[in-house]
Amino acid sequence: MSGRVAVVGLGPGPAQWITPEASAEIEAASDVVGYTPYIVRLPMRAGQRAHASDNRVELERARLSLKLAADGATVAVVSGGDPGIFAMAAAVFEAAEESRAWHALDIAVIPGVTAMQAAAARLGAPLGHDFCAISLSDNLKPWAVIEKRLKAAAEADFVIVLYNPASKGRPTRIAEAFAMLRGLKSATTPVAFARAVGRPDEKLTLTRLGKADVGAVDMATLVIVGSSETRYVPREGARPWMLTPRSYGAAR
Ligand code: SAH
Repeated sequence: MSGRVAVVGLGPGPAQWITPEASAEIEAASDVVGYTPYIVRLPMRAGQRAHASDNRVELERARLSLKLAADGATVAVVSGGDPGIFAMAAAVFEAAEESRAWHALDIAVIPGVTAMQAAAARLGAPLGHDFCAISLSDNLKPWAVIEKRLKAAAEADFVIVLYNPASKGRPTRIAEAFAMLRGLKSATTPVAFARAVGRPDEKLTLTRLGKADVGAVDMATLVIVGSSETRYVPREGARPWMLTPRSYGAAR
């Protein structure tokens, strides 16, 4: 077994957010495996094989990459953002766990800029204090688990980052999540919808929990719900900064 699998993070979209290490891994790969929209964005060289697939077949895609590597290939499995955050790294290790033969493979995770970092950078400093990230997708976990975590996160007063807030198959989940949060947190809590950050159709919406219109939230959106400490810093003629101060209970 001489092959290698690199699980590579491509960042949120733009080329300047792809690390040099990620580019080098893709360049060196004999085979590139991933969800079709990521594959089509990559500059492939002649002789490189692309294996594009649907987003929902993560484990199959992971097994394919391990099989290719076991046959000697140098494989790059690509994910948007960071591959360890709601993405392919876990699927690759889950698949590798299934077979002792695959335990000997060289598997590397190449980190990337995750959507949460990109969105936070645009907004100011919303993640300046304790935060948590929750995926609202109930494709791979029961909705009851998501509800329990949202409630606990609100009660613990974390800044709450929601990945996968909505999709065509689950259009109402974000409304259900907000209904629950409205019962647990102040209506004035700052809320940001950061859509397609770093891409040409980027859109940032700054609102508050009580009046946020979740109809604007889609699959390309990351949602950040503030803690009791999070605030907007208003600016003349410019978008306010979203700030969660470093020290808790800081004087205003
Ligand atoms: N591994 C990825 C996350 C995959 S889950 C990462 O680390 O970023 C997919 C979710 O990520 C989307 O539904 C959306 O909530 C968020 N996301 C990914 N790219 C984004 C971008 N450019 N702008 C805003 N949110 C994004």
